[in-house]
Amino acid sequence: MSWARAVVRATCPESAGAVRLVLEVDGWSGHVAGQHVDLRLTAEDGYTAWRSYSIASAPQQPLVSLVVQGVDGGEVSPYLISDVQEGDVLELRGPIGGHFVWRAALGGPVQLIAGGSGVVPFLSMLEHHRLAGSDAEVRLLYALRNPQDVLGTGVLGQVGPRVQVTYAYSRSAPPGWQGPTGRLDAGVLAEHVCGPAAAPQTFVCGPTGFVEAVAGALVQLGHVPTSIKTERYGDAA
Ligand SMILES: Cc1cc2nc3c(=O)[nH]c(=O)nc-3n(C[C@H](O)[C@H](O)[C@H](O)COP(=O)(O)OP(=O)(O)OC[C@H]3O[C@@H](n4cnc5c(N)ncnc54)[C@H](O)[C@@H]3O)c2cc1C
Repeated sequence: MSWARAVVRATCPESAGAVRLVLEVDGWSGHVAGQHVDLRLTAEDGYTAWRSYSIASAPQQPLVSLVVQGVDGGEVSPYLISDVQEGDVLELRGPIGGHFVWRAALGGPVQLIAGGSGVVPFLSMLEHHRLAGSDAEVRLLYALRNPQDVLGTGVLGQVGPRVQVTYAYSRSAPPGWQGPTGRLDAGVLAEHVCGPAAAPQTFVCGPTGFVEAVAGALVQLGHVPTSIKTERYGDAA
């Protein structure tokens, strides 16, 4: 797969520590919700670094959006957040991945479980669901540290009646919060995700440790391992 030229058409803050990059990619062939791309940066001295980023925009949208959450001390993400500007040219290859995907034609029920920036591919799936007028039942359980860390408020604020979004806060919750708090253990999952009897297509995405803990707990609860699709973003070394 070759690298294509991607012109940055807009950059918008998604939270205090994350930015949305809207890209116009030469020869873009379209994508399926859930896929990702590789983004490559080249310094003036020729040094290059590339990282993977899930596609946040829906397949129906002409421009490709990525949402990058800053990782402290990281090589690439702080640059994408602070230095990249409208008009800059990046290199991109993709779309990549054929397993962690959802199309409206697949129907539901669908259970999405995100940790932090792991919500990004689900923003694409939810926007695809809305634009396709899908009546598939979709639930999103979104684990994050603090309310101000939410990514994708635009998409999450527009979901239709067939979509249910539940937040779980691990560090601080809004005043009077009655919903889940702390880590997503088997107890929280049993209460807030579709049970195995509903046979949902389940997608889990986020830091590696989060994905492994959640997938393990789902299997403990009786979900069939082959019904659970996972995407691991990496973790602190
Ligand atoms: C398929 C795929 C899709 C991804 N999609 C997204 C996305 O949509 N949005 C997004 O923000 N990121 C996404 N990531 C993570 C992204 O590729 C980078 O790993 C991330 O931006 C950090 O890169 P960096 O160069 O800043 O940090 P690095 O210099 O690579 O790492 C710095 C330190 O941070 C740790 N670290 C690296 N990544 C993470 C992480 N995700 N969580 C916690 N610690 C980490 C490293 O182990 C190291 O200790 C995705 C990863 C994969 C594999």
